[in-house]
Order: sequence, then C-alpha cells, then structure tokens
Amino acid sequence: MMHKFLSTFLGLLLFAAHAAHAFEPTTKQVTDNVYAIVGEIDQRNPENQGLNNTTGFIITADGVVLVGAGATADSAKMLEAAVKKVTDKPIKQVINIGVQDHHWMGNSYFLAQKIPVVALARTVESQKQQEMGNRMRLSAGIGGKPEDLKVEYASETFPGDEKTLTIGGVEMVLRYLGDGHFPGDAVLWLPKEKLVFTGDIVFNDRMLGVLPDISKVKAWQATFKKMAELKPEHLIPGHGNPSDLATAQKNTGDYLDWLVTEVGKSLEEMEDLGDAVKRLSADKRFDFLQLSKDLHGRNIHQTYLQLEAE
Ligand SMILES: [Zn+2]
Repeated sequence: MMHKFLSTFLGLLLFAAHAAHAFEPTTKQVTDNVYAIVGEIDQRNPENQGLNNTTGFIITADGVVLVGAGATADSAKMLEAAVKKVTDKPIKQVINIGVQDHHWMGNSYFLAQKIPVVALARTVESQKQQEMGNRMRLSAGIGGKPEDLKVEYASETFPGDEKTLTIGGVEMVLRYLGDGHFPGDAVLWLPKEKLVFTGDIVFNDRMLGVLPDISKVKAWQATFKKMAELKPEHLIPGHGNPSDLATAQKNTGDYLDWLVTEVGKSLEEMEDLGDAVKRLSADKRFDFLQLSKDLHGRNIHQTYLQLEAE
C-alpha cells in the first residue's frame, strides 16, 4: 500500500517537473486567417524538442492547413495544441516547405491521424539526402539515438517548381525559388493576402547559420532576392518572429550580402583564411542578432571556403 502511494507520489512529482519544463511556442496572428507559431529563438534542447523554428497555419472554410510539422512527435503535438487554442476546426492538411528537421520530421504524428502531408517532390528528394545529418543534429540537441526517431515523408508530392493549391477557398502557391539554408527549401505564397511563409530562407531575430556542405551562401542570397520580388506585405520566417519584408532584409538579406561582399573582397586581396575570419569576426554590425557570438565566425569561415572553391 505504502509502496503504491510512493510510486503514485513520485509519478506526480515527475509529471510536475516535466510540465514545469515543457516548452510552449508563441502563437501570433498575422492576418485574419493566418497565424505564425514561433518556436524557441535558440538552439535545440530536450524541452523544445527541436521546435526552435517558426511554422504557422491558415484557417480555411474546410479546416486548418498547417505549414510545417515540427521536428518530432512531441513538437508536432505542440503545434497541434497551438492550433487548438485558436480554432475548433480540425487540421485538414500539412504542407512541408522545408528540408531541415524541424520543418518536417514530425510528419508521422499527423500521418498517423490520416492527415495528408504534401510537398514538392524536390523538397522530399532533398529531405531524403539530408535525413541522416538531420537525425544526428536533432538527436544531439534533444537526446536519444538518431536511429530511434520515427521519420516519414509527405504522403503526396508534386513535380516541378510550382504547385497551386486551393483549400477551403484560400489560394496558396507552393514554390521553389532556389536553394537556401538547405537545397530544396520552398516557400508558400498566398497571393490574395500577400503573405509568404519563407521557411529557412529568412531568419528573423537570430543569426542564420551557414551549414558546411549544405548552405550555399551565393545561392541563398539569390533565392532571398527572388522571395523579395514577390513583394510580400506579411512574412512568416523559418526562424524568429513574423515581420514585414524590410525587417527580413535587415536580418537575413543584408547579412547574406555582407558575407558575400566582404569575404569576396578578402579573397581578392589574397588574405588567408585565419586572418579573414579574425578580422571580419570583429565587425559588430550584426551583433543585434541572437546567437551571433556562436555563429558569426563560423559563417565567415564557411563562406570563405565556398567562395575560394569557386
Ligand atoms: Zn531551420
């Protein structure tokens, strides 16, 4: 009897400890029917379950379209809970626009509920190529073994670079504009609302990361410019808070331009890698972005290696 009481008590204690640490993303209304779900603006950890990115959803006459699936079943549940706080309508459809873990590796949670998940075929191809790296980086952040993550791809894919979907009266265009943070990253453009879900093409509030062998800085710079040509009035980024285009330009576009220009000059002047990283790391103009202390020097290093190899 005492034993049973103790185990119940301990169970409650554990539950309370877990609940106290559980991370909750912030939901922000962007237009009448579109919301951003802003995950943690920091690195992955066990509490945020890899939900250190931004996703969102569109409420239509036929139900909710969720743009992004979270990194794991637990982070998918956080997204589902965020939707339920705003509307009683069920999630009808999930769209994968990104290749990095937290944009799609929670798919299995929605597929198990028979909710279709769609994506451009080229995005899924890249997800397959990047899957092992995504599993490793994710499990390094949240714990557990890479092979234990349950990973499923979209249930329907579309060939080519563009697919228009009209769901519950809302027109949305899934478009590939060029490679970005990851090859195969796409955007979702809502022409009537002039709203774009940019995925990881835009990082707001925090510094973007140039990943070795994955993020090609010049391609990303060109893709950002194409996104800007859409002239969005509302922008939901892959990381950080929703914003206008000018804010995204300041946080991401200007930084990509700076990396390409300054590192390019350094190579023209035959400065060696170590000197270039040391000199350019001392430039503080992007210090207002979170994580800049961790990422700025690494980004310069990676950009140097890429531009040098051209
Ligand atoms: Zn990301």
